Amino acid sequence: MHIKFFGAAGEVTGSRHLLEGQTQGQHFKFVIDYGMFQGGRDANDKNLEDLPFNPAELDFVILTHAHIDHSGLLPRLTAQGFKGTIYCTPATEALLKILLLDSAHIQENDFERAERKQKLGKWRGELPTVLYSVKQATECLSQIKHYDYGQVFEPINGIQAHFRNAGHILGSAIAVIDVLEDGQSKRIVSSGDLGMYDRPLMPNPDVIESADVLLVESTYGDRLHRGLQETEDELVEVITETMKHGGNIVMPAFAVGRTQEILLLLINLVKNGRLPHLNIWVDSPMATAATHLTEKYLEDLDEEAQAIFAWYKKHSHSLDLKFVADVEESKALNRIKGGAIIISASGMCEAGRVVHHLSWNLPHSQNAIIITGFQAMGTLGRRLVDKVPMVRVMGKEVAVRASIHTIGGLSAHADQAGLLRWLKGFKKAPGKVFVIHGEENAAANFAAVIKEELQWEHVVTPQKGNLFPC
Ligand SMILES: [Zn+2]
Repeated sequence: MHIKFFGAAGEVTGSRHLLEGQTQGQHFKFVIDYGMFQGGRDANDKNLEDLPFNPAELDFVILTHAHIDHSGLLPRLTAQGFKGTIYCTPATEALLKILLLDSAHIQENDFERAERKQKLGKWRGELPTVLYSVKQATECLSQIKHYDYGQVFEPINGIQAHFRNAGHILGSAIAVIDVLEDGQSKRIVSSGDLGMYDRPLMPNPDVIESADVLLVESTYGDRLHRGLQETEDELVEVITETMKHGGNIVMPAFAVGRTQEILLLLINLVKNGRLPHLNIWVDSPMATAATHLTEKYLEDLDEEAQAIFAWYKKHSHSLDLKFVADVEESKALNRIKGGAIIISASGMCEAGRVVHHLSWNLPHSQNAIIITGFQAMGTLGRRLVDKVPMVRVMGKEVAVRASIHTIGGLSAHADQAGLLRWLKGFKKAPGKVFVIHGEENAAANFAAVIKEELQWEHVVTPQKGNLFPC
């Protein structure tokens, strides 16, 4: 058997790992995750590049979770001839229905807008790429089969697999795959993305005790996150101060995961008497859909999160939580002069309704903007974090008079200590460890830490295109 890394190797996005070999006298070929490359100038080229296999010959796909950097090219794979099954958890399937269709919509819209401009002579350069259409995304969704955590399934004769909870986002999984090779079973474990330990919303990542081949993520393999206590204290301080001065708070947040985490934190702070009655608006159709899904799959969350939700159901008067339905209602929020907490997407302030809320709230000094997630270079969110005095929002120059606060402790990814804690669950060193899903430094740093702290010998940081026997 061998493994080929053709994404998320030496970088964070584009998770795609091909496994190929023989079982029960048959040749097999499958991939773990099939994500989109995001950010950076060459992402588009990577999404379009030739594949190291014929999609029609691929037996199946094992998908760890719904994030686009793990799932986002699946519709393209289907369009290119893949006919097999995509295996994931039930909540991941539910999220994919939102995320993949949204991804296709955005691509179609961007293309149509550019084409219209081109006809008017207002578009220079190439038109944006459509990686797949809404129709192709819909077709892809019909190839999904879901299994609960712990439920064993057999994609082909000789290969058995099951999912364990990765504690990263709703439905996120660690994939455990047992391949029968020459009469012996070989276990491949892919960590997927691992969540933080002891944080609200998601449970701790499940312990896995053995693997012959281990793929482990390393997004934050070279650093430690701030503690939850500190994060809560910062939130309480900013919210209390802003409310005292009659201001509004805008919190840009990723629709899936982060929005629900923030809601839970805020409800918990009200429950514990650290914050007074709050007026919260969630203004993002995708965040609303994802929050309803979170309630539907409540049993996948940790016990504390379930208890907080249950408390809120009984004490819903303790805070006013509203989900904004349409654009008109969203615009009406602009008339609120103070006392509102608006949670809206996109997380990096590049698109979506949050842009409108920023343009209204940034020019007034009594307001506060709370940044809770990673802001990539070149985004509006990053300029706010960097405290630029004037920013361009929707084609207008806007003065930044609102206070900007970066709350660093919220992350859907385990930090170095968390990743190590998960690895310590293995009873003995896996035969081979591949450190993936991290930028060069983070992956190399974490590989060195594994060797030093755990005394594991066979630890590799693969590069894109590398192939290894395993
Ligand atoms: Zn993820």
